Amino acid sequence: MSNAVWKEYEDNQLTHSAAHYLMTIHELLKEHGYARVTDIAKRLNITRGSCSISLKPLKKRGLVVEDENRFLQLSDEGQRLAEQVERNDELLEELFRDVLGVDPEQAEIDACKIEHLLSLDASIQLANFMACIRSKTDEVQTFLKELRKQSTSCTHDSDTCSICQNICFIDQN
Ligand SMILES: [Zn+2]
Ligand SMILES: [Zn+2]
Repeated sequence: MSNAVWKEYEDNQLTHSAAHYLMTIHELLKEHGYARVTDIAKRLNITRGSCSISLKPLKKRGLVVEDENRFLQLSDEGQRLAEQVERNDELLEELFRDVLGVDPEQAEIDACKIEHLLSLDASIQLANFMACIRSKTDEVQTFLKELRKQSTSCTHDSDTCSICQNICFIDQN
């Protein structure tokens, strides 16, 4: 991996916590038509004070907008980001659980951890991939069957195994 590639991570436009603030506001707006700091704090299980502090950079970037009644709204860009992260979360959880066979609880956790990190391109291609999987055609079923067989392809011997380096990573599970 080149230096330029791993440093991209630092340029990610959304921190994980910012992503959850945006999604929480988005949820509250859908459910109640408004979002207040108190409601966000309650839902994220944090204090009002730390909620206000975390909202500051989001307001500054114009993702979250406060009206004269101190109700919070999402700007178009804020809403776009919230929806993108929500979609990524759903797609990734489904990918891990239904395609890769990751334990459902772990799939949910892992999806949550990376939901905000995908580029729009990767997100769109992932949506296409999952749409193809959901089509459940014979070809897809055959592919999934073939994939399930691969789970035992580790030889537990680093000389012959195509997956492991020096330490068998299957045995660590
Ligand atoms: Zn998350
Ligand atoms: Zn192996």
